[in-house]
Amino acid sequence: MKPRKARLAGWGGVLLVSFLGLCPAAAELPGEGSALRNADDEALYLRLRERMVSEQLAARDITDRRVLEAMGSIPRHLFVPPNLRGQSYEDYPLPIGNGQTISQPYIVALMTQWASLKGVERVLEVGTGSGYQAAVLSRLVDRVFSVEIDKDLSLQASRRLKELGFLNIEVKWGDGYQGWEEKGPFDAVLVTCAARHLPPALFRQLKEGGRIVIPLEKANFIQTLTLIEKSGGKPRIKLILEVRFVPMTGEIDKNKIS
Ligand code: SAH
Repeated sequence: MKPRKARLAGWGGVLLVSFLGLCPAAAELPGEGSALRNADDEALYLRLRERMVSEQLAARDITDRRVLEAMGSIPRHLFVPPNLRGQSYEDYPLPIGNGQTISQPYIVALMTQWASLKGVERVLEVGTGSGYQAAVLSRLVDRVFSVEIDKDLSLQASRRLKELGFLNIEVKWGDGYQGWEEKGPFDAVLVTCAARHLPPALFRQLKEGGRIVIPLEKANFIQTLTLIEKSGGKPRIKLILEVRFVPMTGEIDKNKIS
Protein backbone atom coordinates (compact mmCIF):
# COMPACT_ATOMS: atom_id res chain seq x y z
CA MET A 1 0.00 0.00 0.00
CA LYS A 2 1.25 3.47 -0.83
CA PRO A 3 2.32 5.50 2.20
CA ARG A 4 -0.38 7.95 3.02
CA LYS A 5 0.70 11.54 3.19
CA ALA A 6 1.56 12.54 6.74
CA ARG A 7 -1.29 14.28 8.47
CA LEU A 8 -0.97 17.92 9.24
CA ALA A 9 -1.30 18.94 12.85
CA GLY A 10 -4.90 20.16 12.49
CA TRP A 11 -6.55 20.05 15.89
CA GLY A 12 -10.12 20.06 14.51
CA GLY A 13 -9.61 16.41 13.61
CA VAL A 14 -8.30 15.65 17.06
CA LEU A 15 -11.44 16.98 18.69
CA LEU A 16 -13.71 15.02 16.38
CA VAL A 17 -11.97 11.74 17.11
CA SER A 18 -12.20 12.05 20.88
CA PHE A 19 -12.37 8.70 22.59
CA LEU A 20 -15.36 9.32 24.85
CA GLY A 21 -16.17 5.91 26.35
CA LEU A 22 -12.74 4.51 25.53
CA CYS A 23 -10.83 7.17 27.43
CA PRO A 24 -9.37 5.34 30.44
CA ALA A 25 -9.22 8.46 32.57
CA ALA A 26 -13.03 8.59 32.43
CA ALA A 27 -13.51 5.57 34.71
CA GLU A 28 -13.27 6.23 38.45
CA LEU A 29 -13.12 3.22 40.73
CA PRO A 30 -13.45 3.42 44.51
CA GLY A 31 -11.06 2.30 47.25
CA GLU A 32 -8.33 -0.07 46.09
CA GLY A 33 -9.56 0.75 42.63
CA SER A 34 -6.60 2.77 41.53
CA ALA A 35 -4.22 -0.22 41.22
CA LEU A 36 -7.00 -2.15 39.48
CA ARG A 37 -7.72 0.79 37.23
CA ASN A 38 -4.05 1.08 36.32
CA ALA A 39 -3.94 -2.58 35.34
CA ASP A 40 -7.09 -2.10 33.25
CA ASP A 41 -5.65 1.02 31.67
CA GLU A 42 -2.43 -0.75 30.74
CA ALA A 43 -4.38 -3.60 29.14
CA LEU A 44 -6.41 -1.07 27.14
CA TYR A 45 -3.31 0.86 26.06
CA LEU A 46 -1.68 -2.40 25.00
CA ARG A 47 -4.66 -3.18 22.75
CA LEU A 48 -4.59 0.34 21.30
CA ARG A 49 -0.85 0.01 20.70
CA GLU A 50 -1.24 -3.34 18.94
CA ARG A 51 -3.93 -1.81 16.75
CA MET A 52 -1.67 1.16 15.98
CA VAL A 53 1.11 -1.19 14.87
CA SER A 54 -1.10 -3.30 12.62
CA GLU A 55 -3.37 -0.61 11.15
CA GLN A 56 -1.07 2.42 10.90
CA LEU A 57 2.36 0.85 10.42
CA ALA A 58 2.31 -2.74 9.09
CA ALA A 59 -0.67 -1.96 6.85
CA ARG A 60 1.36 0.80 5.22
CA ASP A 61 5.01 0.31 4.34
CA ILE A 62 6.68 -0.36 7.69
CA THR A 63 8.17 -3.81 7.16
CA ASP A 64 11.21 -3.82 9.47
CA ARG A 65 10.22 -6.32 12.16
CA ARG A 66 12.46 -4.67 14.77
CA VAL A 67 10.85 -1.28 14.17
CA LEU A 68 7.37 -2.81 14.52
CA GLU A 69 8.40 -4.55 17.74
CA ALA A 70 9.92 -1.39 19.20
CA MET A 71 6.82 0.66 18.38
CA GLY A 72 4.72 -2.14 19.88
CA SER A 73 6.65 -2.05 23.13
CA ILE A 74 7.06 1.66 23.95
CA PRO A 75 4.22 3.08 26.10
CA ARG A 76 3.49 6.12 23.93
CA HIS A 77 0.68 7.18 26.31
CA LEU A 78 3.33 8.04 28.92
CA PHE A 79 4.96 10.54 26.55
CA VAL A 80 1.91 12.79 26.05
CA PRO A 81 0.14 15.14 28.48
CA PRO A 82 -2.23 13.14 30.75
CA ASN A 83 -5.38 14.71 29.25
CA LEU A 84 -4.40 13.44 25.77
CA ARG A 85 -3.51 9.87 26.72
CA GLY A 86 -6.72 8.50 25.25
CA GLN A 87 -5.56 9.78 21.84
CA SER A 88 -1.92 8.75 22.13
CA TYR A 89 -2.21 5.79 19.72
CA GLU A 90 -4.21 7.67 17.09
CA ASP A 91 -2.93 8.40 13.58
CA TYR A 92 -1.90 12.03 14.12
CA PRO A 93 0.59 14.20 16.02
CA LEU A 94 -0.32 15.61 19.44
CA PRO A 95 0.73 18.78 21.28
CA ILE A 96 3.28 18.27 24.06
CA GLY A 97 3.47 21.86 25.35
CA ASN A 98 5.55 24.95 24.49
CA GLY A 99 4.09 24.91 20.95
CA GLN A 100 5.74 21.58 20.09
CA THR A 101 4.32 18.22 19.00
CA ILE A 102 5.01 14.51 19.29
CA SER A 103 5.06 13.18 15.72
CA GLN A 104 2.41 10.90 14.26
CA PRO A 105 3.36 7.24 15.01
CA TYR A 106 3.74 6.42 11.29
CA ILE A 107 6.30 9.20 10.81
CA VAL A 108 8.32 8.01 13.83
CA ALA A 109 8.33 4.49 12.38
CA LEU A 110 9.18 5.68 8.86
CA MET A 111 12.13 7.81 9.99
CA THR A 112 13.40 4.95 12.13
CA GLN A 113 13.05 2.45 9.30
CA TRP A 114 14.97 4.67 6.86
CA ALA A 115 17.83 4.88 9.37
CA SER A 116 18.36 1.11 8.73
CA LEU A 117 19.50 0.24 12.24
CA LYS A 118 20.98 -3.15 13.09
CA GLY A 119 21.57 -2.90 16.85
CA VAL A 120 25.13 -1.71 17.39
CA GLU A 121 24.82 1.92 16.39
CA ARG A 122 25.34 5.26 18.09
CA VAL A 123 22.51 7.56 17.04
CA LEU A 124 21.98 11.29 17.41
CA GLU A 125 18.51 12.81 17.53
CA VAL A 126 17.95 16.56 17.11
CA GLY A 127 14.66 17.57 18.76
CA THR A 128 14.03 15.39 21.83
CA GLY A 129 10.53 16.81 22.39
CA SER A 130 8.68 14.26 24.54
CA GLY A 131 11.49 11.70 24.29
CA TYR A 132 9.31 9.20 22.42
CA GLN A 133 11.43 8.93 19.26
CA ALA A 134 14.53 8.54 21.43
CA ALA A 135 12.78 5.75 23.37
CA VAL A 136 11.92 3.92 20.15
CA LEU A 137 15.52 4.27 18.94
CA SER A 138 16.87 3.05 22.27
CA ARG A 139 15.30 -0.37 21.67
CA LEU A 140 17.06 -0.67 18.32
CA VAL A 141 20.62 0.57 18.88
CA ASP A 142 23.43 0.65 21.41
CA ARG A 143 23.40 4.34 22.42
CA VAL A 144 21.09 7.29 21.75
CA PHE A 145 22.09 10.95 22.18
CA SER A 146 19.34 13.53 21.89
CA VAL A 147 19.52 17.33 21.90
CA GLU A 148 16.57 19.61 22.67
CA ILE A 149 16.64 23.40 22.47
CA ASP A 150 13.67 24.02 24.79
CA LYS A 151 14.86 23.83 28.40
CA ASP A 152 11.53 22.71 29.92
CA LEU A 153 10.98 19.98 27.34
CA SER A 154 14.55 18.82 27.66
CA LEU A 155 14.32 18.49 31.45
CA GLN A 156 10.92 16.80 31.29
CA ALA A 157 12.04 14.29 28.66
CA SER A 158 15.24 13.55 30.50
CA ARG A 159 13.35 12.90 33.75
CA ARG A 160 10.68 10.81 31.99
CA LEU A 161 13.22 8.61 30.19
CA LYS A 162 15.11 8.00 33.44
CA GLU A 163 11.93 7.13 35.35
CA LEU A 164 10.90 4.71 32.63
CA GLY A 165 14.30 3.02 32.76
CA PHE A 166 15.78 3.96 29.37
CA LEU A 167 19.40 3.73 30.42
CA ASN A 168 21.09 4.02 27.02
CA ILE A 169 19.73 7.51 26.21
CA GLU A 170 21.46 10.78 27.05
CA VAL A 171 19.54 14.03 26.67
CA LYS A 172 21.19 17.44 26.42
CA TRP A 173 19.65 20.90 26.52
CA GLY A 174 21.16 22.82 23.64
CA ASP A 175 21.00 23.76 19.97
CA GLY A 176 21.26 20.64 17.84
CA TYR A 177 22.44 22.70 14.85
CA GLN A 178 25.96 21.94 16.10
CA GLY A 179 25.19 18.26 16.70
CA TRP A 180 26.93 16.76 19.74
CA GLU A 181 30.62 16.77 18.88
CA GLU A 182 31.96 14.94 21.96
CA LYS A 183 29.59 12.00 21.49
CA GLY A 184 30.15 11.51 17.76
CA PRO A 185 30.81 10.24 15.24
CA PHE A 186 27.36 8.75 14.72
CA ASP A 187 26.06 5.92 12.56
CA ALA A 188 22.76 7.72 12.10
CA VAL A 189 21.21 11.13 12.81
CA LEU A 190 17.47 11.73 13.03
CA VAL A 191 16.29 15.33 12.91
CA THR A 192 12.72 15.77 14.10
CA CYS A 193 12.30 19.48 13.32
CA ALA A 194 12.24 21.00 9.85
CA ALA A 195 15.47 22.63 8.66
CA ARG A 196 16.04 24.93 5.68
CA HIS A 197 19.39 23.28 5.04
CA LEU A 198 21.36 20.36 6.38
CA PRO A 199 23.37 21.65 9.36
CA PRO A 200 27.01 21.05 8.27
CA ALA A 201 28.03 19.79 11.74
CA LEU A 202 25.56 16.91 11.46
CA PHE A 203 27.18 15.71 8.24
CA ARG A 204 30.67 16.14 9.74
CA GLN A 205 29.71 14.07 12.78
CA LEU A 206 28.30 11.27 10.59
CA LYS A 207 30.43 8.16 9.98
CA GLU A 208 31.23 7.03 6.44
CA GLY A 209 28.24 4.97 5.27
CA GLY A 210 26.05 6.63 7.92
CA ARG A 211 22.56 8.02 7.36
CA ILE A 212 20.75 11.23 8.23
CA VAL A 213 16.96 11.38 8.09
CA ILE A 214 15.78 14.99 8.11
CA PRO A 215 12.75 17.04 7.03
CA LEU A 216 14.18 19.71 4.71
CA GLU A 217 12.09 22.79 4.01
CA LYS A 218 12.25 24.72 0.75
CA ALA A 219 11.42 28.40 0.31
CA ASN A 220 7.80 27.51 -0.54
CA PHE A 221 7.28 25.93 2.93
CA ILE A 222 7.11 22.44 1.48
CA GLN A 223 8.98 20.02 3.70
CA THR A 224 10.40 16.79 2.34
CA LEU A 225 11.58 14.00 4.56
CA THR A 226 15.03 13.36 3.12
CA LEU A 227 17.61 10.60 3.48
CA ILE A 228 21.23 11.69 3.23
CA GLU A 229 23.90 8.99 3.15
CA LYS A 230 27.62 9.66 3.49
CA SER A 231 29.24 7.85 0.61
CA GLY A 232 32.91 8.46 -0.13
CA GLY A 233 32.67 11.53 2.12
CA LYS A 234 29.91 13.00 -0.05
CA PRO A 235 26.15 13.26 0.50
CA ARG A 236 23.89 10.92 -1.47
CA ILE A 237 20.35 12.21 -1.33
CA LYS A 238 16.97 10.51 -1.57
CA LEU A 239 13.62 12.22 -1.14
CA ILE A 240 11.13 10.16 0.88
CA LEU A 241 7.84 11.92 1.55
CA GLU A 242 6.23 15.32 2.02
CA VAL A 243 5.79 15.97 5.73
CA ARG A 244 4.92 18.66 8.25
CA PHE A 245 7.22 19.24 11.23
CA VAL A 246 7.70 22.15 13.61
CA PRO A 247 10.62 24.34 12.49
CA MET A 248 14.19 24.07 13.71
CA THR A 249 15.00 27.24 15.65
CA GLY A 250 18.20 28.75 17.01
CA GLU A 251 21.44 29.06 15.11
CA ILE A 252 19.95 27.88 11.82
CA ASP A 253 18.08 31.20 11.55
CA LYS A 254 21.41 33.04 11.39
CA ASN A 255 22.88 30.83 8.68
CA LYS A 256 21.54 31.52 5.25
CA ILE A 257 23.01 28.53 3.40
CA SER A 258 20.22 27.43 1.04
N1 SAH B 1 11.10 13.79 18.51
C1 SAH B 1 10.09 14.38 19.35
C2 SAH B 1 9.22 15.38 18.62
C3 SAH B 1 9.98 16.57 18.33
S1 SAH B 1 9.10 18.05 17.94
C4 SAH B 1 9.25 13.35 20.04
O1 SAH B 1 9.43 12.15 19.83
O2 SAH B 1 8.41 13.75 20.86
C5 SAH B 1 10.53 18.98 17.48
C6 SAH B 1 11.41 19.40 18.62
O3 SAH B 1 12.55 20.01 18.08
C7 SAH B 1 10.75 20.42 19.54
O4 SAH B 1 10.73 19.94 20.84
C8 SAH B 1 11.66 21.65 19.39
O5 SAH B 1 11.81 22.38 20.60
C9 SAH B 1 12.97 21.00 18.99
N2 SAH B 1 13.94 21.88 18.31
C10 SAH B 1 13.70 22.90 17.45
N3 SAH B 1 14.86 23.46 17.04
C11 SAH B 1 15.87 22.75 17.67
C12 SAH B 1 17.29 22.85 17.65
N4 SAH B 1 17.92 23.78 16.93
N5 SAH B 1 17.99 21.98 18.41
C13 SAH B 1 17.37 21.03 19.16
N6 SAH B 1 16.02 20.91 19.22
C14 SAH B 1 15.28 21.75 18.47
